[in-house]
Amino acid sequence: MFSELALHERLLKAVEELKFAEPTPVQAAAIPLALQGHDLRVTAQTGSGKTAAFVLPILNRLIGPAQVRVDIRALILLPTRELAQQTLKEVERFSQFTFIKAGMITGGEDFKVQAAMLRKVPDILIGTPGRLLEHLNAGNLDLKKVEVLVLDEADRMLDMGFSEDVERLTGECPNRQQTLLFSATTGGNALREMTQKVLREPKHLLLNRVSELAEGTRQQVITADHDQHKEAIINWLVANETYQKAIIFTNTKAWADRLYGRLVAQDIKAFVLHGDKDQKDRKAAIDRFKQGGSKVLVATDVAARGLDIDGLDLVINFDMPRSGDDYVHRVGRTGRAGSEGLAISLIDHSDWNLMSSVERYLKQTFERRVIKELKGTYSGPKKVKASGKAVGKKKKTDAKGDKKKTASKTPTKRRTANKPKSELVSQDGLAPLKKRSTPAPAAE
Ligand code: AMP
Repeated sequence: MFSELALHERLLKAVEELKFAEPTPVQAAAIPLALQGHDLRVTAQTGSGKTAAFVLPILNRLIGPAQVRVDIRALILLPTRELAQQTLKEVERFSQFTFIKAGMITGGEDFKVQAAMLRKVPDILIGTPGRLLEHLNAGNLDLKKVEVLVLDEADRMLDMGFSEDVERLTGECPNRQQTLLFSATTGGNALREMTQKVLREPKHLLLNRVSELAEGTRQQVITADHDQHKEAIINWLVANETYQKAIIFTNTKAWADRLYGRLVAQDIKAFVLHGDKDQKDRKAAIDRFKQGGSKVLVATDVAARGLDIDGLDLVINFDMPRSGDDYVHRVGRTGRAGSEGLAISLIDHSDWNLMSSVERYLKQTFERRVIKELKGTYSGPKKVKASGKAVGKKKKTDAKGDKKKTASKTPTKRRTANKPKSELVSQDGLAPLKKRSTPAPAAE
């Protein structure tokens, strides 16, 4: 029961208004500790209710009589505009019976309008690191009085290269009394380092063990001979599956555009979302998809990060994501709050090893599905190792004993070519995936 959480009655009233019956596990675990003033390091995915887990304690701290605002008192850093928009909405919903005001600063919006908003000084500022730093450098932003700092989806901020920006911004909040760090994964060394730098004697909460992330969602794989075969399967699924809303994920922007073009050419209403689209187009696509203007959204990982869309019950992976964590993020879009969802991954020979790595990472075996009309010839490697991966051909060795490198046939299919070396050895789901050690206790 929310009423057991020692929250201000005006916040409880908002919770009641929103018809939230019970706190989710992450809320039940994090809110009491946050209210006591502890620093927290929380592992919980989008869809778990983690936003309210930090927003409610912040509001509880800031709640008070109406007064002239002179200081920004809470700062929420997060990786994407879409997540910022969703978080602002959540703050506004929970603060509807208070005088607390929140503001948002992200790239792709008018700088001067943002500067004017900052002059009015919101109590809570939500933003992405790059644009916040621009305002800081322009002298528009004073964070010295920030009492609570939240790093939301910290793992993704690091993945996106925001590490230095985040560090600089946290340094601008020297008087903070509490720091709350949320991430969807347990993360690698970079996240551990950041945790050590920014948190003081934190409590660790591990709410979603990886193997539990996709509960409520059926996970299937369909083997395919090549990209054109995959396109035919996509067309079939879009036309024949029963769903309210579907997302098709691709690893590249080029493929997102191509699939989108194909769907539209067949008079299927669809939207596309990727990093090359400008902010207006992205927002319009998300809004119209949410409102039911189309049943299909084609997206890349970063663009779809943090999206919370009601009624999303089908996720199709055109290709296998580059890491187990990305898989979890994609599939986590569906089957939320106990509802049914279906995730289908299309697997050709170049996806196979990634798929078996993800299966091992999740400790699950995906259901194999065949569409009769579209049965191809590829159904997996001829021989597999104990790990489930394909037994590879022996690499040719030259006179010096060095393995000869073979060029990738399809450049768009190269999974790791452009990744920094550190990512290749990360333990948070990037292939090659090592067997995970026993999960940490739920709380310590
Ligand atoms: P989040 O993980 O914060 O992105 O939240 C996912 C969705 O769950 C959002 O639409 C929230 O408004 C909703 N939500 C959060 N907490 C609860 C709750 N206790 N009961 C029902 N829905 C919730």
